[in-house]
Amino acid sequence: MSHAAAIVVAAGRGMRMGGGVKKQFRPLGGRPVLHWSLEAMEQAPSVEEVVVVAGEEDVDRLRREVSPLFAKVTAVVAGGATRQESVARGLRALTPSARWVVVHDGVRPMAGAALVERVLEAARKHGAATAAVPVADTIKRVDAGGRVERTLERDGLWAVQTPQAFARDVLERAHAEGGSLRATDDCGLVEAIGHPVAVVPGSPRNLKVTTEEDLEILESLVRRRAEGAAVPVTGFGLDVHRLEAGRPLVLGGVTIPFPKGLAGHSDADVLAHAVMDALLGACALGDIGQHFPDSDPAYRGADSLQLLTQVSQLLTARGARIVHVDAFVSAEAPRLRPYLDAMRANLARAMGIGVQQVSVKAGTAEGLGPVGRGEAIEARAVVTVLRHVAPGGLFSPASS
Ligand code: MG
Repeated sequence: MSHAAAIVVAAGRGMRMGGGVKKQFRPLGGRPVLHWSLEAMEQAPSVEEVVVVAGEEDVDRLRREVSPLFAKVTAVVAGGATRQESVARGLRALTPSARWVVVHDGVRPMAGAALVERVLEAARKHGAATAAVPVADTIKRVDAGGRVERTLERDGLWAVQTPQAFARDVLERAHAEGGSLRATDDCGLVEAIGHPVAVVPGSPRNLKVTTEEDLEILESLVRRRAEGAAVPVTGFGLDVHRLEAGRPLVLGGVTIPFPKGLAGHSDADVLAHAVMDALLGACALGDIGQHFPDSDPAYRGADSLQLLTQVSQLLTARGARIVHVDAFVSAEAPRLRPYLDAMRANLARAMGIGVQQVSVKAGTAEGLGPVGRGEAIEARAVVTVLRHVAPGGLFSPASS
């Protein structure tokens, strides 16, 4: 199966609105506009890699910020002076095996995975395709003096959006031959080499953030989505670590005086690990071993509360919200009750939720098994998370 890649263009410098913050980084529903655009790609089953094209000054920061949140992002590269040059640079950063290319504006946050899939499907059939909506207003050409030159025939006029999708060789040829053209979209370049472009009905909600009003409209769309379609889901996590002399004992971020501590690659905070695994489980995002492999030296001695914050951000990036955590630590010794409130406070802070949303309990194993013999400490956690059911979103049957 030939794979598809996406280029998300976020190199625009427009700061007319937003007091010095570029449009792609303005907050929408509590996270940057760009993250919504990336989420559409992340959720589209056919898209296997994503290249983000950003302003040179934003590249380093975005690499750090976006890579842990969006697993499909393989590169963040610096854009050029024009949108066309930026897409060309994105094209050069794709892996050789990508045969199909989706181009999407970083400032179109509401495209959704379903539309990405429909445009790709049309491109697979026709070689090139774009999302577009029929024009409702009458369009007139106006001269520099502000006077109407003529009225365009409205029938057959469509306003073109992104995503646009292409056979990679078609898009590469269009960019190579259209270097001197000044096209405002990639379909323009493909048309110029005489290749047909299929039109796929987009959505009026697939707005491009251009003005302050656009952001207001999008904000109300996001709010409606958040209110209307959230369902609670449950996640479960379990972790065991061996007790060893000479290691600090860290549970829920609290260092507890005890002659033994938990063995492990990170700080071995078995409670934080169980909570992380439960959170990942609620969103079917795998387990902590996949996200923070213990073969990676970066996680040697890692502060597990920081990793818990990263996992929480991963959920937020997918529009999920943590409602409640209930955890249980099994330890024969030491007595944990005096530390439980401090653990709750640490875990809550790391997840960005209230302490009343976190429960931590503890008990012994009555002398039974490895926990009972004082050889190990075990933690279990159950979490409740609100997830969104959106068209083409987390629960659509097509998304993985
Ligand atoms: Mg562990």
